[in-house]
This record gives sequence, structure tokens and C-alpha cells, in this order.
Amino acid sequence: MMQVFMPLNFLGFVYREMKGAMANIEKLFGLLDVKAKVVDGPEAKPLQPGPGRIEFDDVRFQYHPDRPILKGIRFTVEPRQKVAIVGSSGAGKSTLFKLLFRFYDVSEGAIRIDGQDLRNVTQHSLRSAIGVVPQDTVLFNTSILENVRYGRVSATDQEVWEAIRLAHLDGFIERLPEGIDTLVGERGLKLSGGEKQRVAIARALLKRPPIMVFDEATSSLDSHSEKSILTALQEVALEQTTLVIAHRLSTVVDADSIVVLEDGEVVEQGTHDALLQRQGHYARLWALQRQQAS
Ligand code: ATP
Repeated sequence: MMQVFMPLNFLGFVYREMKGAMANIEKLFGLLDVKAKVVDGPEAKPLQPGPGRIEFDDVRFQYHPDRPILKGIRFTVEPRQKVAIVGSSGAGKSTLFKLLFRFYDVSEGAIRIDGQDLRNVTQHSLRSAIGVVPQDTVLFNTSILENVRYGRVSATDQEVWEAIRLAHLDGFIERLPEGIDTLVGERGLKLSGGEKQRVAIARALLKRPPIMVFDEATSSLDSHSEKSILTALQEVALEQTTLVIAHRLSTVVDADSIVVLEDGEVVEQGTHDALLQRQGHYARLWALQRQQAS
């Protein structure tokens, strides 16, 4: 009986894991009701693993023919760099990320990962190469241990703990009476927004994809949660190419490069200090957030 049960149980686990990963990506973009628009071509090949260089090469895109949304986006993210995308609401930040996951094809130009045009690679291999930390992570009605292990089901307990430590979740877990075996989700402990994002970071760290996409929560976090997430994110960014949709500019201060999008165009790009000196869009956004915070 046990012999039958174990593989079935494992298959169920793998299935939930795959569903979870997809749900996270779909949730990132609010795409749960949207049917896939893009299908793999007959010549599509798996993405060849590389260091994680992303190139947006004159990317143009529109959802509807008469309304251009992205108007010639050009920038490169070098392997292991952390690049933040900022800009006002409706500027096109999420659209850019939807194109990176190839939920849509670019209308003109190209997006390449390690030199490979996304239109020539299979969607499965593309999405396996990208780890996602969405604003609101999907948690399952299992233990914290299993929720983190969804990142890579074959991971050992030691590897799970290592990811938890890097994601700065260990202190929180140690304070729970049942520790890492505490059930979360509907039937268990409810996690705060910040704790959930750290579970997502731990999952992504366990998966160790060459590219990580982080959609920062818009909702305000207490300063302790925000600081823990920032530190966790810094750990991630050391190892992987990291792209962040940033709503709070405190997240982007240490980015290697900040891309400022306005109305579908890159209006500025540089480090925090360089952009402040320019006294342009970014400096205005920064001043506005400082005002709101005080
Ligand atoms: P926010 O910070 O508010 O999330 P954003 O910078 O991420 O904004 P996008 O979500 O990329 O902006 O939207 C860019 C523009 O594209 C907006 O004008 C939006 O209305 C439009 N848009 C987004 N999704 C669709 C869609 N599925 N169909 C048509 N238009 C869309």
C-alpha cells in the first residue's frame, strides 16, 4: 500500500508544484482569465542555459493596433546585475514583463536572453529559466517547509533551510511553536504580505534560475518587513540577474541601473545617484515619495 501511495503522493506534489509556479506567474500579471496568446513555433528549441543576459532591442508593442504602449524600448541587463524599472502608473512596466515571459509577442524589435530571440525558444524552457516573486504569493495548505520546497521538489531539508535563512525567514519560523512544520494557508497560519513575499523569495532561491523577476508589493509594509525583504533581495541579486518592478524607490537605491519608463518610453537610465543629479523624472519621483513618507 505504502509503495503505491508514495509515488502517487509524489506525483500530486509535483503537479501542485507546477500549478503553483504557473499560478505565481499568472497572478503576477493578473492573467488568470486570459488564454495563452502565443504558441510555440514548429522550430522552437529549448532556451540554452547561459549567464542570464537580457536584451530589450527596440521593443515596440501594442495590445490594440491604434494604441502603441511600448515605443522602442532599448536596454540591456548584464548577468547578475540588478535592474529596477520605475515609472508612473500605466507607463508600461508590467507590459514589459509580460513580453519577457512571452505572454505576448513584441510587435517590432526583439527580446533576447543570452542572445536567443524569445520567439525561437519554447515557452516552457523560457519560464523555467525565470523565477518569479509576485506581489501576492500563492500559498498551499501545507507546512512552511513544503511551501518553500515547491521551488525545487528534490531539494534536501538542508537546502530548504539555507534558502529560508537567505530569505530572512528563519527568525520568524523559530518563533512558531511548530516551527517549519506549521501549516499555512486557509487551514493554518495566515502570513502577512511581507512574510509571504519572503516565502516566495526562499522558493525562488531554491529554484536558482538564472533570472529573477520581483514585483514589489504596492501595499505598504511595516519597516521591519520592508528591511527584511530588501536584505533578502540583495542576497538574490548577488547570484542572479534580477529585474524589479519597483513601487517604493527605497528598493532601487542599490540597483546597478534604474530604468525610468514614461508613457512607453525609456526617459532616463542610470544609478540612483546619477539620476538624482540629473534632476529629471527620477529626481521628481524621489522627491514626491520622500514628501509622502514624511
Ligand atoms: P502600474 O504601475 O499601474 O501597474 P504599469 O506601468 O505596469 O502600471 P501597464 O500595466 O504595463 O502599466 O499598462 C500600460 C498601458 O497598457 C496602460 O495604459 C494599460 O491600460 C494598457 N494595458 C495593460 N494591459 C492591457 C490589456 N490587456 N489590453 C489593453 N490594454 C492594456
